[in-house]
Amino acid sequence: MIQPASRTKLIELSLIRKMFEVTNPDAINLGIGEPDFDVPQNIKDAMKKSIDENITHYSPNKGYIELREEIVKKFKKDNGINTDPENVIVTVGASEALYISAQAFMEPGDEILLPDPSFLLYKSVINLAGGSIVPVDCKMENEFKLKAEDVLEKITPKTKAIFLNSPSNPTGAVMEKEDIKAIADLSMDHNFLIISDEIYEKIIYDKKHYSPAKYSDNVITINGFSKTYAMTGLRIGYMTANDEHTEELFKVHQNSIACSNSTAQLGAYEALTGPQDDVKKMVGEFQRRRDLIVSRLNGMGYETVNAEGAFYVFPKIEDENFVQKAAEAGVITVPGSAFGENGKNHIRMSYANSYENIEKAMDILEERVVNG
Ligand code: PMP
Repeated sequence: MIQPASRTKLIELSLIRKMFEVTNPDAINLGIGEPDFDVPQNIKDAMKKSIDENITHYSPNKGYIELREEIVKKFKKDNGINTDPENVIVTVGASEALYISAQAFMEPGDEILLPDPSFLLYKSVINLAGGSIVPVDCKMENEFKLKAEDVLEKITPKTKAIFLNSPSNPTGAVMEKEDIKAIADLSMDHNFLIISDEIYEKIIYDKKHYSPAKYSDNVITINGFSKTYAMTGLRIGYMTANDEHTEELFKVHQNSIACSNSTAQLGAYEALTGPQDDVKKMVGEFQRRRDLIVSRLNGMGYETVNAEGAFYVFPKIEDENFVQKAAEAGVITVPGSAFGENGKNHIRMSYANSYENIEKAMDILEERVVNG
């Protein structure tokens, strides 16, 4: 075997994916991080049509201008962010946007503030870029919401960036406006970057989403189509930042992936300009499932925050063998420790599965794991 680069040793293959491979295929999967819905029909039709019309060549590196114009309108309307098509890059999912943000701005010596617990990829992209991770606690007593005072405590002259993710994977927490605004102010006062991953923006219940880029110039805003439009496999996302920051991001994007998939871009254009009924329906259904899973878990005696967004709950479950026992009984879950120190004694359960399957899974847990 040829010696791999030392940076590769700093990352690992996803434990979550590995677990899906080894467990019983008939098990109910509450481990998964993608909507169980299909791509809305109007989006499928737009993609099929684009292939027939041979819109299958390279697009401009930043993405088709028509799509970027729609993204600009979306940022203005939904997020109060004023940007322009030159400062929008269409990416291969939000994943690429996270990767190029780290590659463009992080290097050894930089301290990167990372909410704990948080989405696995953040740690990986920081490690691949050589940055040092400084965890910031998201405490259960605060319903896992990141608080500005906890961020302030961790800032040093070496602080280069912070990741924000509201609504959050893995906890479903939605940050409060005053914390978003206060952290945005800190990013200006202490000159660091906010990488705001807003991919779950639309999957939110009785709560409003706020974007830090409304309050600070030092923000890279990342979003995508995977969750809102169930387009996970089409690999399409987008990002915006100010002029100077966009130029650096664009260098990495252009020199690595060139441009994102043309068919998916046409689908994304339809997603933004077409009817939004399917999104509304999907969010309504997620809320019904959230209510079910939270009440069932509480009924079993597991303390569970009534998550306000995304499609995850993060109950406190101190049984070290819970994930194993649940998997053997036929329910796949993910240990919270996979998402950081503060995830210990918690389990991530996704409710991106049918209402009936969630009911069945809760029955199995109650009968065979809790009382078994
Ligand atoms: N950010 C978060 C918080 C996620 O949960 C995910 C997907 N699990 C992503 C980004 C990646 O999304 P995409 O499919 O757009 O690459």
